Amino acid sequence: RIAYVNGRYRPVTDTAIGIEDRGFQFADGVYEVWSVRAGRFLDHEGHRARLERSLNELRIPLPVGFPALDVILHEIVRRNRIEDGLVYLQVTRGVARRDHPFPPGPVRPTLVVTARALDLKAADARAAQGVGVITRPDLRWKRCDIKTVNLLPNVLAKQAAREAGAHEAWLVDESGHVTEGSSTNAWILTGEGVLVTRQTDEKILWGVTRLAIKALAEQEGLRIEERAFTVEEALRAREAFITSATSFVTPVVSIDGRPVANGAPGSVSMRLRALYLEAAERV
Ligand code: PLP
Repeated sequence: RIAYVNGRYRPVTDTAIGIEDRGFQFADGVYEVWSVRAGRFLDHEGHRARLERSLNELRIPLPVGFPALDVILHEIVRRNRIEDGLVYLQVTRGVARRDHPFPPGPVRPTLVVTARALDLKAADARAAQGVGVITRPDLRWKRCDIKTVNLLPNVLAKQAAREAGAHEAWLVDESGHVTEGSSTNAWILTGEGVLVTRQTDEKILWGVTRLAIKALAEQEGLRIEERAFTVEEALRAREAFITSATSFVTPVVSIDGRPVANGAPGSVSMRLRALYLEAAERV
């Protein structure tokens, strides 16, 4: 596998970042993930725009221009011969003597881009079966709208899910409402046929896939409410699902071991998944 690191393409195993990189020491950096399907980026512009927003919020300059970044993204796909997979990008504030405030002098931010193939057949099989989620308290900071590499609470929640034999952990805020999954946005379809997903406040990442699915659902004439929902409401729902760049739309069939509806993937969830993937093939 080939990685892009600060201007050079090198084998992943033959690259290095300084030990005083602020990403390593303070999680002082942001990341972005694109899905690649049949060699093409999904929602390319949405992810680019969110990267720009995350960088602006933390006042980290991108060390290359956006046109050059585009070239790098396509080059990493080409060099790794990715047909179906993902591209991971990380920008940190750079390397400087360890001290909490921003470095006083100009520091070149660290830019790393990698890619890897994904088994789409396995993902499709998982979606066709549906996945289980567990619930965990949301222990994260109060700016989850910024896509930072500060992911320890997400890591611990996902590990708890794995240890419980579940696919994802839904994070629950202090008022008992689901914020989102550890690496996905959370949705339900109520008994009344209303699609519900949390409003884009600072407690969730503004998923690019979330936005695309919202647009598709509107086109389908579905009623949508952007609001918080509780675990109890989700357990009474007709359907539940998660969205993310790498899982697209994946039905949720159980929550904390209790079935959602009849415990099978919902038809609206599967239709939205199919529509999303069809739309991706058309761009
Ligand atoms: N929420 C969190 C915490 C995430 O980490 C992610 C993606 O990694 C998402 C939601 C889904 O966002 P997107 O659809 O842009 O991949």
